[in-house]
Amino acid sequence: MLPLSESHSALQDLRAHCESTYPREACGVLVIDAQQQVHCIPGRNLAASPSHFTLDPATLVQCRRRGFEICALYHSHCDAPPTMSAQDRACALVAGRPAWPGVDLIINSVTRGLSTHLAHYQWSTAVGRFLDRRAKPASATT
Ligand SMILES: [Zn+2]
Repeated sequence: MLPLSESHSALQDLRAHCESTYPREACGVLVIDAQQQVHCIPGRNLAASPSHFTLDPATLVQCRRRGFEICALYHSHCDAPPTMSAQDRACALVAGRPAWPGVDLIINSVTRGLSTHLAHYQWSTAVGRFLDRRAKPASATT
């Protein structure tokens, strides 16, 4: 999917959602509607944890019912860099292949309640792992 500019409203919504759940991890999806517009759909973290997330399946069902194409899954890392953890990799892969083919992974770091860095991972068939497409500051406020 994408690329989205740093100022795209979907990424602004994503960052706001992640800040609103701090110090617990946020999770949700980015979707594309019938007009090819990208939207952020905040999900509910069933784990309600500062270091884990379990996306409420109702979020995914709702997206399907509305005819949205899921293009990315996102979650936040609270007071931690936006690097994929061992658990993130375990959840994203099935038998070494993407569990969600064609769906990117976004991790947004929230430090002391503010979004600081966003990483965008995309599966690379060539190297057989997720690669970070970018890891840039989310804003110039730091
Ligand atoms: Zn994670």
